[in-house]
Amino acid sequence: MRKAPIARLHDRELPFPRLSLETTGSGVRFWTDAALEAASSVRMGFTERAGGLSSGPYASLNLGRFAGEGEEAARANMRHLMEAAGCAEAALINPQQVHGTRAVMVLDGAPEAIAAADAAAQEGADALVVGVPDVFALLGFADCVPVVMVSPAGAFAVAHAGWRGAHGRIVSKTLGVLADLACAEGAFASRQEAAAACNIYIGPYIHAECFEVSADVHGLFSEEFGRPVCPDASHVDLGAVIRADAVGAGADTRRIADVDACTVCNEDRFFSYRASGGTCGRHGAFVVRK
Ligand SMILES: [Zn+2]
Repeated sequence: MRKAPIARLHDRELPFPRLSLETTGSGVRFWTDAALEAASSVRMGFTERAGGLSSGPYASLNLGRFAGEGEEAARANMRHLMEAAGCAEAALINPQQVHGTRAVMVLDGAPEAIAAADAAAQEGADALVVGVPDVFALLGFADCVPVVMVSPAGAFAVAHAGWRGAHGRIVSKTLGVLADLACAEGAFASRQEAAAACNIYIGPYIHAECFEVSADVHGLFSEEFGRPVCPDASHVDLGAVIRADAVGAGADTRRIADVDACTVCNEDRFFSYRASGGTCGRHGAFVVRK
């Protein structure tokens, strides 16, 4: 069956973002926006640990190919998640994340183009920008900030913002790519206007109270983003960094939603590198347009 190119969704505004927990029949749990999916066919999720196939420090939905449990175990959990989310037929792209700010674009739905994008993502990428249906974009996390961005023009992005990526403004860079795509389609007159119409979803991450940093790292953030992202002399608020970066690029604060859970304080529900001492799985952020 031939799929239409990017649907002309920008005639309609996206609903304001709202996250709620979905538990699938197989016990997989993820935070999603059902109204977004109803309006745009974009299904997104921030997964919790429950419902997977792994045990021990990786229990149970470990989605990290390089987390230490081995690639096969992670791939089995990825297939399990895709089935649970009703997306088993989509093409999976799961980059090798390198704490950079590079984004790989997937704007052609032909199988060879998707394979080429996947190959590029294996060379190191911390964001995926997708403009075609049936591509399951998946990134893995254990304290770093997962960020999903959805454009009313139909494209979406998912980004991995550790402290280096957050400081390197991965969110505004990726949001800018989405906004440029919407403008190129004639959906918006300006990049700012297009960015303001995008929904932004922030997943679970290490909150400020648990994110103690060195004086060097603290200095980098206070220099780049100022005091609002540094609650005291030794902690950094990565969520505030992400918000400041997004708003600086035109994002509308009403269109930013947050799971509002600290990974370190909720190690029973999410993987935390810091709380586990470094041996743990990865929870995921996924997006697919059906
Ligand atoms: Zn905490």
